[in-house]
Amino acid sequence: MATILTKYRTISGTITCETGLRIGGSTESIEIGGMENPIIRHPITGEPYIPGSSLKGKVRSLLEYKLDRRDRRGRPKGQAGRDNGEPCECGQCMICRVFGPHKNPSHQLGPTRALFRDAGLTEDSRAWLTKAQTEKGIVFAEVKTENLVNRLTGTAEHPRTIERVPADTKFKFEISVRIFDDDKEQEILDLIEEGLALLQQDYLGGSGSRGYGKVSLDYQVI
Ligand SMILES: [Zn+2]
Repeated sequence: MATILTKYRTISGTITCETGLRIGGSTESIEIGGMENPIIRHPITGEPYIPGSSLKGKVRSLLEYKLDRRDRRGRPKGQAGRDNGEPCECGQCMICRVFGPHKNPSHQLGPTRALFRDAGLTEDSRAWLTKAQTEKGIVFAEVKTENLVNRLTGTAEHPRTIERVPADTKFKFEISVRIFDDDKEQEILDLIEEGLALLQQDYLGGSGSRGYGKVSLDYQVI
């Protein structure tokens, strides 16, 4: 059982949005006439950011698909069963060790190893988006109108507005990794890096099958 915290490793770098990124915020505080589908923003500055929880959840879920660790309501691995969408909570696998054993209170893994920080705008992107705000009146985000197209008549119906972070925006991200005395340090780092590789093949945020959320990462491990 993990007892001694030996050290921290850090994975840090930039996330570049290759396409528009949409991580939804709350509509609760939006008044009538406001944006229907706002992105998540810092409450004071209004700047978009990527919550660590979004990044962590996506990386974890991709690794679970890759390594066949999706929770299937207690069915043995390899057997058919409906994926219930819940993270693995076996409390034994590497994913549980690194990302936390979800709702399992009786595990022996010690604390969650990977701490995903919220990712804010890089200085360059902040300057770029602030300039766009002055010149074009956009507030750190593009507003996209999407329609459902009636496939019989070809006409657009039900237009809705969707906010997203424009392509080419960059965020700075950091994952702090706790290494305990009984950990295989390289295995933990390799797992996280495998997840980051999968993320770049997949998407972050919403509507990935419709072009949103392609990201590229540039990072170092120290
Ligand atoms: Zn597990």
